[in-house]
Amino acid sequence: MENLTIIEKLKSGSVPEKQELAQLLETITDSEREALKEAAQKKAQSIFSNKVYIRGLIEISSYCKNDCLYCGLRRSNKNAVRYRLSKEQILSCCENGHRLGFRTFVLQGGEDAYYSDDVMCDIVSTIRQKYPDCAITLSLGERGYQSFKRLYDAGADRYLLRHETANALHYSKLHPKSMSLETRKSSLFALKEIGYQTGAGFMVGSPWQTYETLAEDLLFIKELQPQMCGIGPFIPHKDTPFFDKPSGTLKMTLVLLSIIRLLHPHVLLPATTALGTIHPKGRELGILHGANVVMPNLSPAEHRKDYSLYDNKICTGDEAAECIRCLSGRMKLIGYEIVTDRGDYK
Ligand code: SAH
Repeated sequence: MENLTIIEKLKSGSVPEKQELAQLLETITDSEREALKEAAQKKAQSIFSNKVYIRGLIEISSYCKNDCLYCGLRRSNKNAVRYRLSKEQILSCCENGHRLGFRTFVLQGGEDAYYSDDVMCDIVSTIRQKYPDCAITLSLGERGYQSFKRLYDAGADRYLLRHETANALHYSKLHPKSMSLETRKSSLFALKEIGYQTGAGFMVGSPWQTYETLAEDLLFIKELQPQMCGIGPFIPHKDTPFFDKPSGTLKMTLVLLSIIRLLHPHVLLPATTALGTIHPKGRELGILHGANVVMPNLSPAEHRKDYSLYDNKICTGDEAAECIRCLSGRMKLIGYEIVTDRGDYK
């Protein structure tokens, strides 16, 4: 089938076959890329107009018991500087963020046992009480059904847990033996069942990724129907086994953002920090290719550089207020506007 016919299929809301998606990713030409971008941009504007939702990212801990091969926070990385934020520090990030117009707080961290269910539920319920108008998003890895449930009951609304790759063999090459795609998928279905707005997602250009595994990622998104989907390029971290692997590309990330927007139109889709890291206009290009969310950093400036998932991460030196001013300006220049809104899935 012609690539343009596959793009027409996506535009009309039907789901291409795996082989068709893989072919499109492998052989897309510049003019087809342009057609895809235009369709995705139009689709996003028909749902969100020119509004961009913001999420305040609070990186609560750089400790991690896991050993994912791609991630700079992996426990085997002896060079990583470890920190964790206290409840008071997290609340002060929220206070700052609320003043700056954030209505979603994302608490993300390594899998750090310090944040037991008791500790985490106390933090979540305090934020819930102080900021009833805000969404609380957690991104703390796999915790098990009961833990997810307790955190939901304490007031968390959303949970981000990227599936990383929907191919089991590929998954096993990116993760230690203790982890499996099966557990990852069942965690995602559990989160949805509990009632969370759930986010899946994957890295683009991770080692051993193929056009086929990417097609599987797209079909998994279609199957799970997550409310959010985070994708960004893989970027090597110097102190991981993947230190010498190439980064994912801007072009492929943009094509995937556009396909996801067409496959699953209402999904909340960020133009990620990783995308902004591999190209100076990465986040703007992400929005123009169908993304509708940006996630500026609210973490305390003194810890920013130590939440080091990959090398050369942007905005590690700025205060939150600077980040939001900079991003507002960048969005305005491309005709978009950052809004003060929880930005729920509709
Ligand atoms: N511990 C949490 C948060 C992980 S960090 C969890 O397991 O969900 C959030 C995301 O950053 C990961 O899901 C992964 O997709 C991405 N990430 C990690 N290392 C990366 C790298 N080297 N390049 C690009 N993205 C990376």
